[in-house]
Amino acid sequence: MATRAIRGNIVLPTEILEDGVVLIEGNKIRFVGSPDHIGEDVQVLNLFGHFICPGFIDIHVHGASGADYMDGDTAAVRKVNAAHARHGTTSIYPTTTTGSFSELDAMIKACESVQETWTVADGARIQGVHFYGPYFAADKVGVHAAEGRRDPARDEYEYFLSRPIVRIATCAAELPGANEFYQYAHARGCLVTCGHSNACWSELDAAFHEGVRHVDHFWCAMSSVSSLRKRFGDPMQASMEQFVLQNEEMSTEVIADGIHLSDDLLRFAYEMIGPRRTCLVTDANRAMDAPPGEYVFGPAGSGTVVFSDGMSVRGADGGLASSMHGMDVMVRTMAKAVGRNLHSVIRMATLTPAELVGIDGEFGSIAVGKKADIVVLDRSLEVCVVIIDGEFYFSKNNADLKGF
Ligand SMILES: [Zn+2]
Repeated sequence: MATRAIRGNIVLPTEILEDGVVLIEGNKIRFVGSPDHIGEDVQVLNLFGHFICPGFIDIHVHGASGADYMDGDTAAVRKVNAAHARHGTTSIYPTTTTGSFSELDAMIKACESVQETWTVADGARIQGVHFYGPYFAADKVGVHAAEGRRDPARDEYEYFLSRPIVRIATCAAELPGANEFYQYAHARGCLVTCGHSNACWSELDAAFHEGVRHVDHFWCAMSSVSSLRKRFGDPMQASMEQFVLQNEEMSTEVIADGIHLSDDLLRFAYEMIGPRRTCLVTDANRAMDAPPGEYVFGPAGSGTVVFSDGMSVRGADGGLASSMHGMDVMVRTMAKAVGRNLHSVIRMATLTPAELVGIDGEFGSIAVGKKADIVVLDRSLEVCVVIIDGEFYFSKNNADLKGF
C-alpha cells in the first residue's frame, strides 16, 4: 500500500509539533513525528507553516447550501454534508428540529440511507444523528416551529432512540416524562443532553442522576438566574449555567460565530469550563453557503421563516436563528477570543466532541491507528486541504492533490 506524507505543523491535543510529518497508509495514520522518518518512496505534500489538524467533528448542525436535514431526503442530506466538509468538518451529527413524527422519521431514514452508502465523495461522514427537537420547553423553543414542539411521549421516543444511528438525545429537563426519556437514552448509550430548557438547578440535578451529561449551546435557549426569576419569583434560583460550571462531569458547546456570543463569553467558557468539556458547534442552518434572503428553519414544509443578511440569520422577531457558518469560522473566532493555545481550541472541534460521543478510538486526533481525517489550515486558519478517510476531498484553490 502506498504511503503518503503531509509535512507541516502538526496539531496534537496537547501541543503543536512544529515541522512534523503525518504518514498515511490507506485510510489510516501510520506515523506522527519527525520528517527524518519519511522514506524515499513516499509522496510528500509539503505544507510548511500550515497547521495539520484532525478533521472537525460537529455534534450540532442543521443544514447548509439551502438544505436542512429535516427536508428528509437523501439529496438534502448529501448537500449539507458536502458543504460542511468544505469547511473542514469530516464527522457530522445531523440534528433534528421540532417537527411531526413523519418529518422526524423521514429525516432519520434519509440519514441512515446516506450513512449506509457513504463514500468520500459525499463529504462529511454521518457518525450519528442528534435527536434534538421536538422535546423543548414551550418558553425556550426559540426559532423552532412551536407547533412541532411537544412533551416526551414514550412510544415516540422509543421508536426513534432504538435506531442505532441516534447517538445524541436532547430533552428539556422540566418537561413531564423527561427523566424517563433520559433513562432510556442513557441505556441506549447516547450522549444525553438538556437543551431549549428553562430548568433550575434541582431539575438539572435530577436529570444528571438519570444520565444527562451535556447541555446544548451554552447561554443560548437555556435557563439563567434572571429567566428563572420569572418562573419562580424570589429567592433567585441557580440555573443550568451554574450547574455546568460547578459539575466537572458536565459538558457543553458554544456557537463561536462571533454573533451569538461575545469574545468575552467565549474566553469565559474556555477558561472556566475548559476545552475538555466545551465543544465548538456550528448549529448551522440552510442559509450557510447560500445567498442572503428568506429561508425556512427546519422542515421545508412546516418550519419557521427566517432571514439571512449574509452574516446572521434571524426570525421575524429579530432573534438569532442558529448560525450560518462552518466550523472553520468557529475555530477562527474562538482562536481570536482565546488568543493562545491553538491546539486547545482545535481540541474543542475535534477530540472533545469525539470523546463525548465515544468515537475517539478512531477519530478526533492525529494519532497512529486513527482514521486519516485531516484538515489543513493556513496561517490565517483558513481551510486549505481536507482529507477524508485517507483520500483527498477538497483544496482551497482547486489544486489537484488526488495523487498526493
Ligand atoms: Zn440547533
